[in-house]
Amino acid sequence: MKIVESIAGLRDVVRLKRRSGARIGFVPTMGYLHAGHLSLVSASRSAADYTIASIYVNPTQFALGEDLSRYPRDPGGDRAKLEAAGCDLLYMPAQEEIYPEGYGTFVDVEGVTARYEGAFRPDHFRGVATIVAKLFMIVAPEVAVFGQKDAQQVAVVRRMIADLHFDIELLVCPTMRDPDGLAMSSRNVYLSANEREEALSISRGLRAAKNAIESGASIQDAENMLRRAISPAFAVDYADIINAATFQPAVSLNDPLLAVFAGRIGSTRLIDNMPVGAGR
Ligand code: AMP
Repeated sequence: MKIVESIAGLRDVVRLKRRSGARIGFVPTMGYLHAGHLSLVSASRSAADYTIASIYVNPTQFALGEDLSRYPRDPGGDRAKLEAAGCDLLYMPAQEEIYPEGYGTFVDVEGVTARYEGAFRPDHFRGVATIVAKLFMIVAPEVAVFGQKDAQQVAVVRRMIADLHFDIELLVCPTMRDPDGLAMSSRNVYLSANEREEALSISRGLRAAKNAIESGASIQDAENMLRRAISPAFAVDYADIINAATFQPAVSLNDPLLAVFAGRIGSTRLIDNMPVGAGR
């Protein structure tokens, strides 16, 4: 596996690969990789001829007081995992090339960012859309692979690809979970054994909401079941049934439905979601 840090070096490789007719697949990550990330690499390998993964902890998507400085890192482990997963190239952007002195251009996606993560983490999606647009400009992939785990991020990237005319196919992979149901996340490493146990209530609640809707319950009843299932150890930001296309509250069982959760336990904020009913 090649490792590249400079934009020029990355573009040289991509130019060469494209000249030989290869379709480029791209998997952007913030590192501290787990099987969820590696499933994206595997999807890229199926959809493209040459897979590039990036590891970059993007400062503009973290608010002051969030976990930027303590975000877990394991470059050596990540390299080994990507290599074993068959990734062709790892791009580790040089910080000074991404946001140099005087940097001043940002991408703001409206609409799908109004609620949920967009409301609880103001500026988060501005940072996400900006770094993803920059990486798309640098890597210029044919296919980009993202995880359903960050469902609203997918909606933001989908909107941005359409609005900015990126000629990129968006591939979305299902959320990988530990055998006990906890959605894999780099942030799970922050959890104590007790907190991890309480966190199992998230997937239990999402599953209960999904089963309720699929056995004929109303949106309101399913939402109540979800909220009741969540451990009181959580400070809940939201536990809702929403419209997966608009990221507005669901109004009809015919909407593409998504059960979503975000909340904090101790110092760790976790998010999860599950497509339900017609949203599956
Ligand atoms: P991150 O490193 O957290 O920014 O995530 C990088 C990519 O991996 C994003 O597209 C995430 O949605 C995806 N991802 C994170 N966790 C999972 C998971 N448990 N299953 C599938 N994809 C995931």
